Amino acid sequence: MRITRIAAWQVDLPLHEGSYKWSGGKSVTVFDSTVVAVETDTGVVGYGEVCPLGPAYLPAYANGVRAGLKEIAPALIGQDPTQLGKLNRLMDAALKGHPYVKSAVDVACWDVLGKVSGLPVCTLLGGRYGEDFHLYRAISQEAPDAMAANVAGYRAEGYRRFQLKVGGDPDTDIERIKAVAAVLKPGDRLVADANTGWIQHEAIRISKAVRDLDVYIEQPCLTYDECRAVRRQITQPFVLDENIDGIDVLMRAHADGAMDVVNLKISKLGGLTKTKQLRDLCVSLGIGMTLEDSWGGDIVTAAISHLAHSTPTEFLFSSTDFNSYVTRSIADGAPQRVNGRLAASTEPGLGVRPKLREFGAPAVDVS
Ligand SMILES: [Mg+2]
Repeated sequence: MRITRIAAWQVDLPLHEGSYKWSGGKSVTVFDSTVVAVETDTGVVGYGEVCPLGPAYLPAYANGVRAGLKEIAPALIGQDPTQLGKLNRLMDAALKGHPYVKSAVDVACWDVLGKVSGLPVCTLLGGRYGEDFHLYRAISQEAPDAMAANVAGYRAEGYRRFQLKVGGDPDTDIERIKAVAAVLKPGDRLVADANTGWIQHEAIRISKAVRDLDVYIEQPCLTYDECRAVRRQITQPFVLDENIDGIDVLMRAHADGAMDVVNLKISKLGGLTKTKQLRDLCVSLGIGMTLEDSWGGDIVTAAISHLAHSTPTEFLFSSTDFNSYVTRSIADGAPQRVNGRLAASTEPGLGVRPKLREFGAPAVDVS
């Protein structure tokens, strides 16, 4: 089996809430996503998607996806898409770094592997744990009362886990955490995600000000060393996200006792192949995980669902249904949230059928 064509389309994903705001005044109104198709000489086609959270969240940006795909695609034509380890080594040899560029190609090749083997990607990633799995809802940064109202609204839709976008003014962030904690019920989980927005002394001060609340602290500061210093001076469960971009830093953070939960994003790590490696290591090490991506639509949500559903339940802290945040559906067959929970498709591959006719001309087309 050989790859004959790699094509990519740019798609806009507007938000139901109009905008998404997080630390440092950063925001996005329309997400710029890229859908990738990997065609083969057997007629089987696999699909992937990658969608950075704007250009200022991780070292990734939407135009970079398309530019990077033009670099790596010629090296992949003629290769076997089902040999995923080999394929990843070829991508790494063709372009150093830029894991987000490779992510959608890797996911599309898992889709191909699932289709030719007749198995859902979930099964290929290790199995299916339970009927479904729980999701968190990201709560865009607003005034404390507005965030509490949003949490109450999403709680009524079935969510039981909430990730507050803090990392703004420290005193307002304390009020945000307190206001939201007041509307939660036993069994709910609350995460205050500063997205690198606090400096070290403020992160410690804020955490101590909410020490009596049941809240996790996620990625308070920009650097790993700052986060580790904060972690050593506070008592809350601690989540690392932006700093964990590969297996070396994950191993270091584990050795340092620097986290209780880690947030693994498929495109931050370069695809399902590499994320599976870290996911399986976290299971062996006893580290809880939020399994998701930077953002995306139906195809990203499908890939997340297969990764999350194939993770032992007790290690899956939470996951995300990004396709419910955006107004546009880009694929049929994508998983849909039911009462705050999601399940991976049981069809072979990812189980999605992208609406290619709605996408216009491809932005990348290599054959
Ligand atoms: Mg985070």
